[in-house]
Amino acid sequence: MPYAESLGFAYHQILVVIAGAVCLFGTWVGMRHFARARATAGSTRLGWLFMASVVTGVALWASTFISILALDPMLKSGFEPVATSLVLLIAIVSCLAGFQIGSRPFPALAPELGGLVMGVGILAMHFVGLHAWHVEGTIQWNVYGLVLTLLLGLSLSALSVNRANRPVTRYCRHGAAIVLAFMICAMHYALTASATTMPDPSLDLPGYLIPAHMLCFAVVGAVLLVMGSGFSSYVIDLRTRTESAERIHQLSFNDTMTGLPNRIAFNERLSFDISDAHEKGQKLAAFSIDLDGFKDINDVFGHSAGDLVLIQVAERLRNAVGEGEFVARQNGDEFLALKMSSNHPADAQAFAEKLGTILSEPFKVSDTDVKLTASIGYSVFPLDTRERDHLVSNAKLAMHRGKAHQAGNICRYDRDMDDAARARRALARDLLSATKNGQLELHYQLQTLLRDGTVCGAEALMRWRHPVRGMISPAEFIPLAEETEAIVEMGEWALRTACRAAAEGKLPGMIAVNVSPLQFNHGDLAETIKGILAETGLHPSRLEIEVTESMLMSNQSRCLEILGKLKTMGVPIAMDDFGTGYSSLGTLHAFPFDKIKLDQSFVRRVPDDLLAAAIVKTVLALGRSMNVPVLAEGIETEDQLQFLIKEGCIEGQGYLFAKPVPLAQIPDAMAKMLQRVAAKTATVQQTDAQVAAA
Ligand code: C2E
Ligand code: MG
Ligand code: MG
Repeated sequence: MPYAESLGFAYHQILVVIAGAVCLFGTWVGMRHFARARATAGSTRLGWLFMASVVTGVALWASTFISILALDPMLKSGFEPVATSLVLLIAIVSCLAGFQIGSRPFPALAPELGGLVMGVGILAMHFVGLHAWHVEGTIQWNVYGLVLTLLLGLSLSALSVNRANRPVTRYCRHGAAIVLAFMICAMHYALTASATTMPDPSLDLPGYLIPAHMLCFAVVGAVLLVMGSGFSSYVIDLRTRTESAERIHQLSFNDTMTGLPNRIAFNERLSFDISDAHEKGQKLAAFSIDLDGFKDINDVFGHSAGDLVLIQVAERLRNAVGEGEFVARQNGDEFLALKMSSNHPADAQAFAEKLGTILSEPFKVSDTDVKLTASIGYSVFPLDTRERDHLVSNAKLAMHRGKAHQAGNICRYDRDMDDAARARRALARDLLSATKNGQLELHYQLQTLLRDGTVCGAEALMRWRHPVRGMISPAEFIPLAEETEAIVEMGEWALRTACRAAAEGKLPGMIAVNVSPLQFNHGDLAETIKGILAETGLHPSRLEIEVTESMLMSNQSRCLEILGKLKTMGVPIAMDDFGTGYSSLGTLHAFPFDKIKLDQSFVRRVPDDLLAAAIVKTVLALGRSMNVPVLAEGIETEDQLQFLIKEGCIEGQGYLFAKPVPLAQIPDAMAKMLQRVAAKTATVQQTDAQVAAA
């Protein structure tokens, strides 16, 4: 047998190694549990603390007695049952107290304090353990050895709990277990080294002692308990981690409201499908799907009804996809899809049509059937692009292009769209600095009283003189300026410039200025206009603000509030382009407009187009009944003018009288209008004279 003499005792070396290993494993499992306790709170934390203490305590108990048993062969011995059990109790309680104190946030040295408590407990355990050990002989203790044992025990256990509580790396937990195991072994050997035994065969051991071999069974049981606890905590840990990983995966890859895959999942699938298509020589089509008029559902029925529609849309899309197809929700009312085929673009077109059809079926919203359409754009890999990101942006571009043309369109990407989009972006960039660079101009179109041709005012119309492209029409740059919000600064410039020209007497009568919806949403437009009128000295009654119906629909309460302020200031308000939007009587009733501007699309078609003529008559009758003068826009011919005069239209503007011109040409334009009136009067007089002569 491999025994070793050490001072007063001989050791069974293998048992000593086993004692160290049990201690190490037990404390490692204990530290694992303790780390879980630190990461949780409330009763879960207490549960883990208890488990940590039981496992560590049992391991300490077992290792203590294994190392005592290692001494057994040289001496006949036995173990006192109560003290032996007490050792286990002390071990568990001191670990519980040590862990509990050590894991508290206060005081600052709580971890070290907890370690000391454990150290005291472990020392007590050893003293009681040795007390429980009855040998056939006598034991004498060395005081210095005992003090050394005490110091070793306390400092090493403090260090151990310190490592467990203030981990710098994830290995600190193992460090703590190693320190604790080392401390127990070192302390135990320091303690036994402080003792000297005198074998005395004349001493009889009491009969109630637990024989060494019986204790072996208890120790083996304890070791199995520790191992079982370690194993089950490992299994629980593994399962919890897998479950949470799956849940995180589910959450981060699925849109929570519709349950459809989200943008992240779409990107992953796209990368996979692209390499698959590449490998198999297939084609991949990406689709961008946008619901038309979805905002109206939110506005009319509320957001929860909107959510229900989105859930129904997702359900239909999910049911529509088959093998090699994939749908995802991008955000809001935008969806994405993929389809693999060797027969693209024909298959892509067919798939888009299928999606368009299933989404055009009515949706149930609060017991009402609501019809929606979807605008769909698509692009095909590798026909249109070989870049993953371009495939989706191409599809979106195509969708927007189709939608701009008509809601519910299906549109395939083509390269010209890219060029147009690039040019548009460049123009939008240039527009941001157009006001500052003095590239904006105002042209003025004179307005007239139709009966006698008197000039009654002018409309200010913005022009952009681009350094490269030359003069650009407002029909092209105003929507762009609204997208980039540059219109706010531009509109203010137009107001100031027009008011100044009118105040300086360079324009006759009223000056009408168009205002964009965005100007209503930024700052206080009424205050801005007030400031401009004060600055230029123009009387409020000479400025006329032109608003469109769609603007009022976009943010009615705010618009009406600002218009009300302007009206109080004495600024007249005109409803521009009447007849092109919703043309609702409600809008006319919502606000007391000072003028209705009849859109040129109707004026252009009178008198021959009977429907247009009927509309013009109705609007004129409406104006009369509401006591609001109507101005007809876009009068180009004498026939149109005569029709309008006959139907009682008061004012007009159009190329027949004057085209929009720069300020410097206004006197000429006015002179021409006077000549026209004079010529007309002369013709009328001549005709009258001829009639009289006849
Ligand atoms: P609008 O306010 O309805 O202006 C009338 C448009 O009709 C002007 O086009 C004018 O040149 C054109 N027009 C006038 N008489 C005739 C005619 O007899 N025949 C034809 N075919 N057209 C005629 P323009 O200057 O191209 O302006 C287009 C639109 O751009 C304006 O429509 C207005 O909505 C917007 N706009 C122009 N200037 C501004 C501005 O300073 N601010 C804002 N927010 N919008 C502006
Ligand atoms: Mg206008
Ligand atoms: Mg107009």
